[in-house]
Amino acid sequence: MKTIGLIGGMSWESSVEYYRIINEVVHARLGGLHSAQCLMYSVDFAEIEMLQHEGRWDEAARSMIDAAQRLERGGADFAVLCTNTMHKLAGAMEQAMTIPLLHIADATAEKILAQGLTTVGLLGTRFTMEEDFYRGRLTERFGLRVLIPSADECEVVHRVIYDELVLGQIRADSRQRYIEFMERLVGRGAQGIILGCTEIGLLVHDEDCRAPLFDTTRIHAEAAVAFALA
Ligand code: GLU
Repeated sequence: MKTIGLIGGMSWESSVEYYRIINEVVHARLGGLHSAQCLMYSVDFAEIEMLQHEGRWDEAARSMIDAAQRLERGGADFAVLCTNTMHKLAGAMEQAMTIPLLHIADATAEKILAQGLTTVGLLGTRFTMEEDFYRGRLTERFGLRVLIPSADECEVVHRVIYDELVLGQIRADSRQRYIEFMERLVGRGAQGIILGCTEIGLLVHDEDCRAPLFDTTRIHAEAAVAFALA
């Protein structure tokens, strides 16, 4: 088994899910007392959130590279960045790393294509929904058509993530808003919905949408185990 290096803390509410799912999947695959061989370096999210919202991405990149290099020194065989948003910096990180970075959008796109879907809705932070680093990758590398909510709805999706989900607050009214947004995306032609923020799976579940949900936390964690055991 390869040693999985997890870059966590963005937020720790979702890092816990990665750790749990990775261990559950290793146990399901290997049985007995098997569990995952892994390291996690967990950042202080207050610092990262400030750099994101002040547009200080060079400093954020330095922080992510520092985290990745700490995992390398600790003996990780590959790295898993436990957030969609910070994949904005994946290219800069890869240039400074000697171990592979398992990209969350690639794992997600492969899962979507395996189900034969071509058009998907995307929920995530405003960075993930509105910028090109994530949608562009899904479109250019995997040929997917990606729909996002209206500008007003994107604002609500973003605010719920930073004001509630990363603090572990799960509110029924916010779930209802997300359900409405997903329904509108399906009405516009989305055949599935990417939960493109690693905390959204804490808020909405399969029964909340008539189209299949692609929970990036679970997909990325399962891909990490597959890579570790390959
Ligand atoms: N965990 C979130 C994501 O997957 C948002 C927190 C962050 O900005 O990293 O994008």
